[in-house]
Amino acid sequence: MKILVINAGSSSLKYQLFDMDGEKVLAKGLCERIGIDGHLKHTPLIEGKEVFDENVNLPTHAEAIAAVIEKLTSSKYGAVASMSEINAVGHRVVHGGEYFSSSVLITDEVLKAIEDCVPLAPLHNPANITGINACKKVMGENIPQVAVFDTAFHQTIPAKAFTYAIPKEYYEVDKIRRYGFHGTSHRYVASRAAAMLGKPVEELKLISCHMGNGSSICAIEYGKSVDTSMGFTPLVGLPMGTRCGDLDSGVIQYIMNKYGLNINEIINILNCKSGMLGVSGISSDFRDLDKSAEEGDKHAQLALDLFHYDVAKVVGSYAAAMNGVDAIIFTAGIGENSKDTRAEICKYFNYLGCELDRDANMARGKETYISTPDSKVKLLVIPTNEELVIARDTKENITK
Ligand code: ADP
Repeated sequence: MKILVINAGSSSLKYQLFDMDGEKVLAKGLCERIGIDGHLKHTPLIEGKEVFDENVNLPTHAEAIAAVIEKLTSSKYGAVASMSEINAVGHRVVHGGEYFSSSVLITDEVLKAIEDCVPLAPLHNPANITGINACKKVMGENIPQVAVFDTAFHQTIPAKAFTYAIPKEYYEVDKIRRYGFHGTSHRYVASRAAAMLGKPVEELKLISCHMGNGSSICAIEYGKSVDTSMGFTPLVGLPMGTRCGDLDSGVIQYIMNKYGLNINEIINILNCKSGMLGVSGISSDFRDLDKSAEEGDKHAQLALDLFHYDVAKVVGSYAAAMNGVDAIIFTAGIGENSKDTRAEICKYFNYLGCELDRDANMARGKETYISTPDSKVKLLVIPTNEELVIARDTKENITK
């Protein structure tokens, strides 16, 4: 069975084609600048096939999907002989609101519910819907398509953890609550952690730290998400590359009044100019910050210090919320690659009986323990693989 996994953004579209016999990636790629001019980088992972990396005209997502299919089926760059070999498409969909607690086969009713969630994710859900419709147009009405939601895994969070302390009508009427994101990643690393620990996930208390451009932490008790640091939007929780994370809402009013900004301008500052970039004044990228901090830049060091501190605070609060923790997982760009970030964060965990193995912590981008054999709480590095989860969920939903 071959499954195409699509992650459609407003002007980009990432894809991977999986052969589910052996769960191999046959080809992957990225369309960029859709609706502006267009660029396609297509990488087949089959011997003898060539990489395609050129500007192509991509006025809409439908042309982007058509260009992807053309490359996937070409004799020079391709991975399949014809489009009919692709059995189904799996889509990353950012927001499923309270409608979806698992992945679903896309029907007209499902598409309507995804549309109903547009106000909750105005930048993301419209792009995901465009991607679904573009596949229908290019691959035919009958191609089975499955939606895999970033929010679904967190639908098990109890009311005491998802409720904001504002007048109850805002939840009852407007569905304002903590939703959480990165659910596909947290779910995947939790299942891998269980495999590494040799125990069913239903017997474990895990804390997953997804640290990339966007970062979130998830408390996973007996296989279920019971709390997470992102909220109604992906702006809150930890400070991130360019996002502020948790912030006293009084600051918004103060800055707006003082500098005569409107709400869109201040939200743009909090989304795009804050976080690591804002505090350091240098970069949102941890590699740049590590370098500048090593060279003695105080602001870069402060940005890093506050990130480590906030991660440690959230992990501590989740250990308290679950009344214990068996393992702490590091994943995504920073979690998988930055030994220094992991080491600094783990300095806060001695009270848990957690001991970092400095040699093991040199590892990059592979599944491994980074705690000593005697460490009471285990420390794990697990590379995330959201595309594989989407492919697996798609297979499961079309063979049900
Ligand atoms: P996204 O949230 O966009 O999926 P990623 O999970 O790919 O992001 O993470 C990207 C971030 O990972 C980069 O901005 C960078 O800060 C960080 N990163 C990647 N490699 C390293 C490294 N070797 N050392 C430190 N940070 C790294």
